[in-house]
Amino acid sequence: MVSDDNFFLFSPLLHEVAMGRIESRHVAYPIRRLHWRDRFNFIQASVNNIDIIQKKVDTSAGMLTYDYLVLALGGVADMSGLENIEEKPNVFTLKTLYDSRLIRNHIIMMFERASVETSNNQQQQLLSFVVSGAGYIGVQLVTELRDFIFRSLIKYYRSINTSNIRILLIEKEDKIISNLHPKLGAYAMKQLKRMGIEVIFRSRLTRVWEDRVQINNEEIIPTKTVIWLSGAVANPRIAEINAAKDNIGRIMVNDYLEVPDFSGVYALGDCAHFKQKKSGEPIPRRAHIAVRQASVVARNILAEIRGLDKKLYVYSPPPELVSLGTSQAMFRFRGLRVYGLAARFIWLGAYTLLVTGSYNRVRIVIDWVSALIFGRDTSYIKTKIGKSNP
Ligand SMILES: Cc1cc2nc3c(=O)[nH]c(=O)nc-3n(C[C@H](O)[C@H](O)[C@H](O)COP(=O)(O)OP(=O)(O)OC[C@H]3O[C@@H](n4cnc5c(N)ncnc54)[C@H](O)[C@@H]3O)c2cc1C
Repeated sequence: MVSDDNFFLFSPLLHEVAMGRIESRHVAYPIRRLHWRDRFNFIQASVNNIDIIQKKVDTSAGMLTYDYLVLALGGVADMSGLENIEEKPNVFTLKTLYDSRLIRNHIIMMFERASVETSNNQQQQLLSFVVSGAGYIGVQLVTELRDFIFRSLIKYYRSINTSNIRILLIEKEDKIISNLHPKLGAYAMKQLKRMGIEVIFRSRLTRVWEDRVQINNEEIIPTKTVIWLSGAVANPRIAEINAAKDNIGRIMVNDYLEVPDFSGVYALGDCAHFKQKKSGEPIPRRAHIAVRQASVVARNILAEIRGLDKKLYVYSPPPELVSLGTSQAMFRFRGLRVYGLAARFIWLGAYTLLVTGSYNRVRIVIDWVSALIFGRDTSYIKTKIGKSNP
């Protein structure tokens, strides 16, 4: 196994790390501690190039050759929709632990600066938070952000005029979370409205500057915070591979999760495009789908080595489970729908079970309970020596 991080990151809880509910280390599990670690070798290295014709993988730790290759490099944020992307605008993404720590620090810093700001307009600019993309990650993040601000931060910043706080969620479609059941969509919209989150539909961020953003090439909103969750593309190392790919660079796979025409090369998770039989659409990018695909790929490689039949990957739609801040969530599986606090408990239970390692599970549960009792941690911890005011 080759990875540029030596830990396994549980991404579905990253938004809670970014909003100070969970400690960052608690969603990371060291790969060298994994169960069955003695059955594989681990190399912490960056993959620089993959040549599936010569069967070679060039990494920062040297060249590797292979008989079988599993591509599971995930995706990266797609900011191609921003028209001033060449100016390298300061936009936050949420993919890594580092991203979540940067977001948390930045929000706290905006409150520190707003608390000493005497101009109402400047304070409003510092306290306007723009989230681009109302997919399930955007909706979960924006509701956590709202609770972080209103349940934890504002009580420590008494000089702040709370009417200056704006949280905006920008979405290019006319609804939140595509493919969400309409009843869940209506419930989520009601909650977003109740929380005072402004949802702007049929709109997209066209430009971002240090102190403002532009929407639809027209409206300007003064802000210093943009969190970009409007889509992802395949990892560039995948997009560079010379095999059939979709329009966002994901590699096409067959029913065995194998790359057609390249025997022994498999791809799974966010970097693979597996077509649904009925709709012809790619299956969604979800953690438990990647995990299920991994076991199918492992079986198929063993089957190839042993000369047995390979197993087909059969996609079954995952349950819909979306958190909406501290005490609300929505859950749907087949005919069953659950909303509110009960769904939040299902959400917490499901994700606690999915986290790798009982040690991390216990620490996450403690974080959730202590955030409820004592509030969230609001310390600004420098990420660079000497840099206190980004
Ligand atoms: C904020 C957030 C919230 C999410 N919430 C949910 C949720 O609630 N439910 C859900 O089901 N899914 C959720 N997802 C999606 C889920 O996390 C992904 O579908 C899943 O992680 C995909 O797994 P993967 O193995 O394909 O890719 P990843 O988990 O992205 O793993 C890719 C790995 O490759 C490594 N890597 C990348 N490039 C290189 C390189 N050049 N060299 C070496 N190593 C490299 C990375 O470090 C990483 O470890 C969320 C994702 C995010 C970002």
